[in-house]
Amino acid sequence: MSNSQYTVQQDAVVAIDYTLKDSNGHLIDSSEGLAPLEYLHGHNNLIPGLEKELLGLSAGDEKQVVVPPEQAYGPRQENATQIIPSEAFPPDMQVEPGMALEMRDTATEQVFEVFVIEVTPEGVVVDFNHPLAGETLHFDVKIVDVRPASPEEIAHGHVHSAGHHHH
Ligand code: ZN
Repeated sequence: MSNSQYTVQQDAVVAIDYTLKDSNGHLIDSSEGLAPLEYLHGHNNLIPGLEKELLGLSAGDEKQVVVPPEQAYGPRQENATQIIPSEAFPPDMQVEPGMALEMRDTATEQVFEVFVIEVTPEGVVVDFNHPLAGETLHFDVKIVDVRPASPEEIAHGHVHSAGHHHH
């Protein structure tokens, strides 16, 4: 890969291999067996606590990063579950635990994500907490490649990789 001396900085396209574990050492997520994760640095595409620790690294560098909840998915809120009546969902929609759903607050027009905990006869139990809220995240990161973003990528705020079709 080219640009081996180009470092992670604002508007860099960064490809990383990573492993994510919780404080008990349980595996949460990993790029192992997948293509590296590519992101555009400085555009809120990674959690803030991880992104700032990658600044200045270059291809081949490895780093362990520990991110507290405040720099990741926030603290866990108690009593943040709600039951949504099954009738609120299209009949052909398969709702399952672990799914993220987009909801719109009709008063503010704000769209936010909720996460399905359980499907019961009374309805769908959703949690307003992200599944990783309250968790301290332990990342093992390896920088695979760093390159300058194209002007179009910077304007869009995301990476345009080969095979990424959109607008
Ligand atoms: Zn785009």
